[in-house]
Amino acid sequence: MPDKIKTFNPFPHATPSHQRREDMQWYHLARWRRLRNWKLRLNPTCQRCGTHEDLHVHHIKPRKQFPELALQLENLKTLCRKCHGIEESSVTKL
Ligand SMILES: [Zn+2]
Repeated sequence: MPDKIKTFNPFPHATPSHQRREDMQWYHLARWRRLRNWKLRLNPTCQRCGTHEDLHVHHIKPRKQFPELALQLENLKTLCRKCHGIEESSVTKL
């Protein structure tokens, strides 16, 4: 492996951090999909009205305001599409 190529990097910080961010996104997506499936297995019905049709996994504390809670099982709630809409609108009103 030639040392010249290995050490030459015109943007020593930009390239690796960008790469790391892409990796994180992929990692989070894979983790999220697994967590979501797990949540739906634990709570296979809407936790608001009890239906088992058209289920979504809702973030109790919004992902945008609490990104650190996005992958916490305790911050998730199984909701049907209708109840999800109701919960989401009650969050935005706060
Ligand atoms: Zn519901």
